[in-house]
Amino acid sequence: MEHFDCVVIGGGMVGAASALTLAQLGLKVALVEKFTPQAFSAEQPLDLRVSAISLASQNLLNQVGAWQQVKQWRSCPYKRLGVWEYESAYTEFNADDIEQSHLGHIVENRLIQLALWQQVTAMSNIHTYCPESLLSLNQDDDSGNNRATLTLTNSVVTAKLVIGADGAQSKVRQMSAIGMTGWDYQQSAMLINVETSMCQQDITWQKFSPTGPVAFLPLPGQSPLGGYASLVWYHQRDEITRLASLSNSQLQQEVLKCFPAQLGDIKVLAKGDFSLTRRHANTYQHKRVLLLGDAAHTINPMAGQGVNLGFKDVLALQHVIAEAIGNGEAWHDEAVLVRYEKMRRKDNLLMMSTMDALYAGFSHPSPLIKAARNLALLAVNKVPVLNSTIKNKALAYACGL
Ligand SMILES: Cc1cc2nc3c(=O)[nH]c(=O)nc-3n(C[C@H](O)[C@H](O)[C@H](O)COP(=O)(O)OP(=O)(O)OC[C@H]3O[C@@H](n4cnc5c(N)ncnc54)[C@H](O)[C@@H]3O)c2cc1C
Repeated sequence: MEHFDCVVIGGGMVGAASALTLAQLGLKVALVEKFTPQAFSAEQPLDLRVSAISLASQNLLNQVGAWQQVKQWRSCPYKRLGVWEYESAYTEFNADDIEQSHLGHIVENRLIQLALWQQVTAMSNIHTYCPESLLSLNQDDDSGNNRATLTLTNSVVTAKLVIGADGAQSKVRQMSAIGMTGWDYQQSAMLINVETSMCQQDITWQKFSPTGPVAFLPLPGQSPLGGYASLVWYHQRDEITRLASLSNSQLQQEVLKCFPAQLGDIKVLAKGDFSLTRRHANTYQHKRVLLLGDAAHTINPMAGQGVNLGFKDVLALQHVIAEAIGNGEAWHDEAVLVRYEKMRRKDNLLMMSTMDALYAGFSHPSPLIKAARNLALLAVNKVPVLNSTIKNKALAYACGL
């Protein structure tokens, strides 16, 4: 039976990043992942699952040596972010306003994961178990060694700390009996990859309507029509189910009918639908278990903050453990893990609640609330003092600065 300082369950974007940051502290780490990440080749079509990677997340990926590889493969920087319900209240956020060259990059999730895995396999103090799954977890080892025992598909390992980075349906969370609060939103989201008649753009935009927002994320590369983009369409679950059942050419007609003119002409390449849930673990740590990323919190994806919050968790954990090691403390003690939770819970809750408030505010049918939200957008755009305070602060916060 092999012993590790930390066993990270889940080698998605957050788990792989966490394995790397903990290994950077000199800890002996195991990374357990169910599915082997697929190798990259430039001919592969753009994947449906993409994320808007904030400047702060880019810094983390840089720190662990994965960003260069992501850049070499494919990513699409964006400089502007447009938001509106009525054209007259169109508000645009620009990287220049916060003295940055860009606001973020749109990157396929699987490429971020793969670039992280390249670094993982280069670290001599990370052992990977892949493809393997967590089958059972015993937090109370009888040996008195203060270790948890984990049974994987083909191995049994022990650890001082078990990190659950195994996503929204986290087995680690369930096996350690950590409860959670949350709800399913009435709406679902449809992701649609398209060719667009426009060349690669530097703007991502979101248009609100009472049935839910529609969003445009630019993707890299040149297509026969011009460029590529990822569209996100939020709507009532029944309507998303109907849209998902359409052929690509039928869906194309629906998109052209319902998306704003800014989109230009499109051709649908691929589509997928996702239900939207909000979940928040009642605690991020219990005995020898700690939760990171979607295992601890899933958020309405409207502002593209899910994985960015997960990466903030990763950095916070590295910080508290580094500090504990520096102070000569037992880095896996409950007192240390509680410090991690203190750093992250409030921030995660604030982002989750802000998203919900925006979502509720922008989908409310009352004419009064409609007028108020458009006036607010107009004011933030046109009143110089609001423009330079609220707008730029919100922008810096969204970029993780
Ligand atoms: C429609 C939509 C759009 C989104 N857009 C954005 C965006 O623009 N920006 C953004 O920041 N976020 C976005 N998100 C959220 C983002 O995708 C998630 O926050 C992110 O994927 C969470 O990463 P994670 O590593 O915590 O979990 P996951 O990506 O779920 O990874 C978990 C990993 O654990 C593995 N695993 C699970 N169980 C086991 C087990 N028992 N044993 C071993 N391995 C296991 C899985 O195979 C997987 O690799 C979006 C989400 C949705 C639904």
